Amino acid sequence: MNSTLTIALSKGRIYKETLPLLAKAGIVPVDDPETSRKLILDTNLAHVKLVVIRATDVPTFVQYGAADVGVAGKDVLLEHGGDGLYEPVDLQIAKCRLMVAGRKDEQAKPGRQRVATKYVNSTREYYAAKGTQVEIIKLYGSMELAPLVGLADVIVDLVDTGNTLKANGLEPLEHIADISSRLIVNKASMKMKHAMVQQFVDQIASAVNQ
Ligand code: AMP
Repeated sequence: MNSTLTIALSKGRIYKETLPLLAKAGIVPVDDPETSRKLILDTNLAHVKLVVIRATDVPTFVQYGAADVGVAGKDVLLEHGGDGLYEPVDLQIAKCRLMVAGRKDEQAKPGRQRVATKYVNSTREYYAAKGTQVEIIKLYGSMELAPLVGLADVIVDLVDTGNTLKANGLEPLEHIADISSRLIVNKASMKMKHAMVQQFVDQIASAVNQ
């Protein structure tokens, strides 16, 4: 049996905020992903490897067992759908809110609103649950621009301090979901490598609660 534990992480905020939790579980990376070009990073433990990939790819790597476990934002998990994954621990990091936002003082126009977002599935589900028909426009970034140039009436995006919205004359309008990063586990790894994976999950859960 393969006794390696592969952990999928994304660069930036999730990586930085996950490191202290890994350290409490006794796992310290040997390479720094910000300076190293390596995509598979060694750790102080010979059987534990980190793969550092795009945030939106983390659930896919874990779903297919290319990584046993991973850390992904709830926003990314809502879009992915969660097939093949357990989500055993809310890591309480990278907290923010998924919100509808729009121009200050803008009157709602009659007819179907256009909503620009990269969170197409969450947005579709949110408006379907409200019984509101909208036209969703998929963007990959800079959503705040869309209402300013008439591409959309509102956006659905992550909001933390609200400063990005404010700087662009926008304001939060409707709360869709509270977001934080989650530990995710491949369902087959949980069975096949149970002792090792369960120990890791327990260590991370107790690190969060410390
Ligand atoms: P803020 O100006 O603090 O409201 O942050 C909003 C910007 O940061 C938006 O562009 C968001 O997409 C991004 N953002 C905020 N929180 C997070 C998070 N937890 N994970 C990823 N992106 C975030």
